[in-house]
Amino acid sequence: MAAYFTLSLRGCCAAVTLSACHKPPVVLDVKRMASAIGTLDYFVRVDSSGTTLSIQGELPPGATLLKLDDGAAPFADELEAAPSTSPWESAAFAPLARGEGGWNANMCARGCRIRYRFRLAEAARAIQDGDRLLSIDNIVIGSASAWLVHPASSASRRYRFRVDASQAPSDVRFVTGVTSISRDVYGAAASEMEDGPYTAFGMMRLYRVRVSNSTLTVALAANGLGCSDETIVSAIRRAAEIVTQYLGFFPVNESLIVVTSSWLDDVRARTSGGGGSAILVSMGPHTHQQQLSRGVLTHELMHLALPYLRRDDQWFAEGLATYTEAVARTQSGELSNNEFWTRLVQHFPEGLPRKNEWGLTGSTRTGRIYWGGALFFLLADIELRTRTMHARSIIDVLRAIHAQGGSLAEPWTIDRVIEVGDQWTGTRVMRELYARMSRGRVDTDLDALWVKLGIETTHDRVRFNNSASLADVRRRMFGNP
Ligand SMILES: [Zn+2]
Repeated sequence: MAAYFTLSLRGCCAAVTLSACHKPPVVLDVKRMASAIGTLDYFVRVDSSGTTLSIQGELPPGATLLKLDDGAAPFADELEAAPSTSPWESAAFAPLARGEGGWNANMCARGCRIRYRFRLAEAARAIQDGDRLLSIDNIVIGSASAWLVHPASSASRRYRFRVDASQAPSDVRFVTGVTSISRDVYGAAASEMEDGPYTAFGMMRLYRVRVSNSTLTVALAANGLGCSDETIVSAIRRAAEIVTQYLGFFPVNESLIVVTSSWLDDVRARTSGGGGSAILVSMGPHTHQQQLSRGVLTHELMHLALPYLRRDDQWFAEGLATYTEAVARTQSGELSNNEFWTRLVQHFPEGLPRKNEWGLTGSTRTGRIYWGGALFFLLADIELRTRTMHARSIIDVLRAIHAQGGSLAEPWTIDRVIEVGDQWTGTRVMRELYARMSRGRVDTDLDALWVKLGIETTHDRVRFNNSASLADVRRRMFGNP
């Protein structure tokens, strides 16, 4: 699963039933789901052990090779397909043969129905990879493409699935960051299915956090979290409020946060998006309340404001989240002005290009991605404020994206992000800076930058010089220091 990491990440309108050779028939009420040509439709039932899924799917024409995420195929049993022309009850299902690239499904060229069982818990224990499927704290976490057999390539427009956990043990829950369509039905563009937002099955305690007009579903692992549920949920609510206060809105209508245990005591997190959004947080048995307020949660929630970008542009997403998290927390009073600038002065050298490093695009070194990206956004913020006489700042770029329906749930190109931002601010700041720093090496003179901003370093702290040429820009970022 492509995710942002943090160091501190159809077709048919007929009723679908589970056939007698699986479990007792359960009607998938597809009639209530808005039907559309080219949609992959699935009905998923969690069995009574809570560890295996029975899955039925309706695939539109065009799929002749079916697959699961790498390593998951051996855990799909009894995969059969039938033409979609006859009713489910009398359809002639035949087993599909699995080759190297997946299941050969020539009969699906004109549309088909599939059914199979997926040994979810077993697959997660075997794969145990945060990018695909993993098992932690009696929870299985991964993208839906790990357990939904789907076309290797197709012109499908949408995918959607319904999960029925009514036969599973009462403490087994299902949650997902995939956009909800209606009660228990989730879906998005088919192109977003692979690497899509996290889904989770297992023993979790669920909470709903309302912020602005949005809902965050918080799923807490059964055991091993260092803080009480109330402390964790409060910290998430506080971080969401800081993001809302900074942006003037919360970036998505809904999102999922799964909190699991870790052997490490600090708080770590990763965010997944495209067709929805979800955040996976881990914390240790001795994690204390203060560690939850050190910015990781705010950073991850800030990711929700930027559309889902391709992997090479990770520096842009991480840079924006790193910079805006610090700005938002300073505006809220969680960080002081002094702490804000001290942090930048200390960390920005890690973001400068080293020997054999060029532009930011495609960066793989952590310091370059996070702090090199954050430097880009500080420079953009300064330039926007300077050119517009303080009328515009980086926050206007995020407002512009939001006004155009952009968020982590939506995949955009970086070109579109820059275009939308520049149009809103009436400048070419983003375009020009991106052209300079994305491909080419830029050795920013940080000492000269701090002098212009009126920031003087003394030991581990900074002092402010209000007669510096850009002191006014600095002062207006959070009010006068
Ligand atoms: Zn991040």
